[in-house]
Amino acid sequence: MPTQSTASSVQNELTGPLPGHPHVHRQQGQLFVEGCSLNDLAAQHGTPLFVYSKAAMRGALAAYQRGFKGRNAQICYAMKANSSLAILQFFAQQGCGFDIVSGGELARVKAAGGDLSKVIFSGVGKTRTEMRAALEAHIACFNVESEAELSVLNEVALSLGLRARISVRVNPNVDAKTHPYISTGLKGNKFGIAHEDALSVYQRAAALPGLHVVGIDCHIGSQITEVDPYLEAMDRVLDLVAQIEAAGIPLHHIDFGGGLGIDYNGDTPPAADQLWALLLAKLDARGYGQRQLMIEPGRSLVGNAGVCLTEVLYLKAGEQKNFCIVDAAMNDLPRPAMYQAFHHIVPVLEHAAETKLYDVVGPVCESGDWLGRDRFLNVSPGEVLAVLSTGAYCVSMASNYNTRGRAAEILVEDTQAQLIRRRESIEDQLALEQLL
Ligand SMILES: *Cc1c(COP(=O)(O)O)cnc(C)c1O
Repeated sequence: MPTQSTASSVQNELTGPLPGHPHVHRQQGQLFVEGCSLNDLAAQHGTPLFVYSKAAMRGALAAYQRGFKGRNAQICYAMKANSSLAILQFFAQQGCGFDIVSGGELARVKAAGGDLSKVIFSGVGKTRTEMRAALEAHIACFNVESEAELSVLNEVALSLGLRARISVRVNPNVDAKTHPYISTGLKGNKFGIAHEDALSVYQRAAALPGLHVVGIDCHIGSQITEVDPYLEAMDRVLDLVAQIEAAGIPLHHIDFGGGLGIDYNGDTPPAADQLWALLLAKLDARGYGQRQLMIEPGRSLVGNAGVCLTEVLYLKAGEQKNFCIVDAAMNDLPRPAMYQAFHHIVPVLEHAAETKLYDVVGPVCESGDWLGRDRFLNVSPGEVLAVLSTGAYCVSMASNYNTRGRAAEILVEDTQAQLIRRRESIEDQLALEQLL
């Protein structure tokens, strides 16, 4: 039997700022992002609709900037988190560089007016074409992830008469048992070079004429909410810096990657400035405090700046569950289907407390197409829900599955709302194809 409850839900109790979302708040029963009513934005622009707060992005970036005050540090926004041009333009205007993972992302940095000399190129599968484009753009550094990639990059650089500035991405193998949620810095995944092999790989790189070794890089995972794995990884990386420099290979910068988590559901990651106070103390203690630092944060700069608005289409009492069928789906917001990720879902107009338990699902023909499970909601068809914490890894992961056009995006600053991506039309989708 579908569960019925009169207990007031978490979401209906929310007044004032929402947890983890200082720029999303309720005012006289209506949900706002900064000074813009979400109900009004949905009525004006339709749904699904992503709405981002500029103040939230500015605040998230400011925490890193405070943490690095007085240091030689470059923040390179990991743009795969949200690569919409206006978002990139905003970070470029704030002085950020970019961590890219494809030639397409390089083209986006150019289109957004970003500074190419602050671009670093990560990823395990860079093609020769992508290498050439990045070399010709004179990016800051390639983060190389294998010996095979070193050889190819050397060849490509020589063929252009250029030298590629490189870091090697090392794998600090931070203990999995104590920190089960970080995965990319462990043995047995596809990223980086094993700690034990790092010195010999650096020696090889230093001997290749098309390469110029400038730094060292690591990135231990994503949605990290504890300090300890970072501290451990920093120690392991600094051990390598000492070894590599003792072998006569100077390292101009240390790139410590990204990965800081956000509050999706009561998560309590350290604040960026507090985390960096601890990491900088470690760097200082070991004599590396004045070295150039680079970081590659993605999620923590944009994740909690965004909400996704979606209209309730139908309520359906299933045999075992109630379903709240909405017009956003896994193609718009893939994190629940991909990672079973949790996102708060709240009505944009406040309601009386009587609620029912629902699975919130999309229209896509897959059982994996759900946005939230077992949520207490009091809603009717035609109403708008806000899916929270959807600024990162949502639009940038969106697809056209089921021939659904990708959602529109709005950037809010105070009472101003600007459309930064129009809704994708069916003409947009069909334009690439040809009949027999
Ligand atoms: C994805 C990624 C990042 C950003 O990770 P977040 O968890 O979004 O901060 C940084 N560096 C590399 C190499 C990545 O692959």
